[in-house]
Amino acid sequence: MRLVDLNPRWMVDDATGRSGLGIEFDCPGECCSRAARKAQFAVPFMNPLDGGESFSLRPELGPFRWPRDGDTFETLTLISDVDGSLNGHWRGFVRDGKVSRHIPIADHAAGGDDAR
Ligand SMILES: [Zn+2]
Repeated sequence: MRLVDLNPRWMVDDATGRSGLGIEFDCPGECCSRAARKAQFAVPFMNPLDGGESFSLRPELGPFRWPRDGDTFETLTLISDVDGSLNGHWRGFVRDGKVSRHIPIADHAAGGDDAR
């Protein structure tokens, strides 16, 4: 699945007009595949597109800021995963403009060696 298919928007700071402070996009998970109104992910960047300081005006986004690579929706990479699982939503990765689901280690191990 591609990021461009998830209705991506750059985060804007209304007070200063700065854009590219983070990214917002529709939940790509099965959980929202039939939802009329999909859950929204809001991911603030550690390194905004304009090279300025990271976004601090929205405390509801929490303290974490994602390191970013790429500056278009087609090329964006987020260095660590995006996790909506606490709210029953998608968890996964954005790499090179593509989104992929996080695979739990237990699934990798299924059918593998038994540690005992
Ligand atoms: Zn969802």
